[in-house]
Amino acid sequence: MRVNGKWYFHCLIPALLLLALCGCGKSAESAEHSFFALDTYITMQATGPDAEAVLMAAEEQMQARERQWSVTNPDSEIYAINHSDGNMVEISLDTAKLIQFALDMSAQTDGALDPTIYPVLTAWGFTTGSYQVPDQDTIDELLSAVDYRNIHLKDSSVTIEDGVQIDLGAVAKGYIGDEVADLLREQGVTSALINLGGNVQTIGTKPDGSLWRIGVRNPFADGNLGVLQVEDMAVVTSGGYERYFTDEAGNTYWHIIDPKTGYPADSGLVSVTVAASEGKRCDALSTALFVMGPEQAADYWRSCGDFEMLLVLADGDIWLTDGLNNTFTLSEKDTNREVTVIRHETK
Ligand code: AMP
Ligand code: MG
Repeated sequence: MRVNGKWYFHCLIPALLLLALCGCGKSAESAEHSFFALDTYITMQATGPDAEAVLMAAEEQMQARERQWSVTNPDSEIYAINHSDGNMVEISLDTAKLIQFALDMSAQTDGALDPTIYPVLTAWGFTTGSYQVPDQDTIDELLSAVDYRNIHLKDSSVTIEDGVQIDLGAVAKGYIGDEVADLLREQGVTSALINLGGNVQTIGTKPDGSLWRIGVRNPFADGNLGVLQVEDMAVVTSGGYERYFTDEAGNTYWHIIDPKTGYPADSGLVSVTVAASEGKRCDALSTALFVMGPEQAADYWRSCGDFEMLLVLADGDIWLTDGLNNTFTLSEKDTNREVTVIRHETK
């Protein structure tokens, strides 16, 4: 064997490096974990070193967020804000960031998203399950305090005005999905799917390199309307079918409220799916665009365009943005639906 300087470089050093990597690094494993939290059934699957332990840490993180952000838990920060009688409340930096995000999105959507809608939701019974149609006087009175500008956030203290109560249910799951995806990535996970009851967050592709297939629920019947194929993206749906009740006259009322009327959003949409890199943006937008309706949603998309969306209209038609045209496949039984592609206007 010839021993010279080159030998060291070409053989010994790479061999030592390989040994070091094998010794310290752990080989990738795949794991799955499901549990109930945040008022929904959560499923996760991940591939990476120590994937099982990482998913346990992810559950802990989500349970902690639920304790912090639940609107009904007397120990939560949101509960403390809602029972502050106009006094300033010190909150954690994480909660301040979530509220700031919700306020930014409320302003950007001209109040279609509004975290102060909570008392109106309560009047409809959506927070308790004791559903009822409130009378107009009750709605008018409650609406007078609904305005995201009644939340005053400064650094990590918040004050809300008289009669105001907040609920971050329209954005929190997306926000938490982003946090968990970051946690998984930091721990070396290269492939994962996190599903928080319709709020889906993906990391990379499936372990075999193919795209993740995300079903878009059919709002009119059981099963999926179609499938979106994505990688490294969040996909979030807001649908009227998720929580609703029907009165004696057969009218249906769902849980997404138009802050301008105090009534369930009657915008011509039955579901909105948003795909983008950040789950929190998808979550905020899916709720807000549901309130806006198809025309305004299309204008909004044209004005920012940093997300893609699929709208299901009350008549069963589908509108989807350009970027989803080759990503979305209709289920076989739905291929007769009319699909319109929303594009940027060409001048
Ligand atoms: P999502 O499932 O993300 O669309 O959020 C719906 C939840 O957000 C509802 O269950 C309510 O708790 C709350 N919500 C309903 N309407 C609004 C609205 N216009 N702005 C903010 N939150 C809302
Ligand atoms: Mg939402």
